[in-house]
Amino acid sequence: MKILVAVKRVIDYNVKVRVKADNSGVETANVKMSMNPFCEIAVEEAVRLKEKGVASEIVVVSIGPQQSQETLRTALALGADRAILVKTDEEVQPLAVAKILKEVVAKEEPKMVILGKQTIDGDNNQTGQMLGALLDWPQGTFASEVVAEGEAVKVTREIDGGLETLELKLPAIVTTDLRLNEPRFASLPNIMKAKKKPLDETTPADLGVDIAPRVATLKVEPPPVREAGIKVETVAELVDKLKNEAKVI
Ligand code: AMP
Repeated sequence: MKILVAVKRVIDYNVKVRVKADNSGVETANVKMSMNPFCEIAVEEAVRLKEKGVASEIVVVSIGPQQSQETLRTALALGADRAILVKTDEEVQPLAVAKILKEVVAKEEPKMVILGKQTIDGDNNQTGQMLGALLDWPQGTFASEVVAEGEAVKVTREIDGGLETLELKLPAIVTTDLRLNEPRFASLPNIMKAKKKPLDETTPADLGVDIAPRVATLKVEPPPVREAGIKVETVAELVDKLKNEAKVI
């Protein structure tokens, strides 16, 4: 079966994010960017399904600026076969991403679409669910285990109080949680090989999708600076501070 994996280029998770001086967003100029960690897990899961002989082809897709090509090359180095860049310099919100992915699904006809459960920049946790709704496909979100069985896929999900296992009829949507797998590192030979793998480019307009934002960001503010801690001398002092200063007991 063919698997489509959606990957987004985001600020690297090790970078301390800085808010722009005019509070309109976060600074991305001269900042290290990487593949969203949950998308790395999505690529890894697709590659494992290919290694098990379940998947026959892995197509990765990213929506974003020209530099998103680097993210796609990383995915190709990790084992994806082919890449599609849907190029835009505009902000693309989850509904627009889902609409674009719906068009890519119509062209590529994959049996499974794997996405991250969430991007670490927008923290939206919406795209997979919206794509499921637009396609009217079953969805297994926050997957911690994925087992393909013929025309179905079993997805184990971490929910409050335990694990839930769902059986989805293919074609289906899966979104990845942190414990699904540990992504591999790309080897140098695979990075070299990835340069020769096909990477097609298209645009939202070519796909007939209007990406006008539906949500306006009014203001972005950094969190309050954390004050330095202090050492208390006695338990009585601690209790006093918790009661009278922090007012938590
Ligand atoms: P979100 O709903 O923004 O938290 O994103 C959830 C998942 O949707 C991500 O982990 C990706 O798999 C996919 N996704 C979101 N935005 C993009 C994008 N611009 N390009 C490709 N995939 C995306």
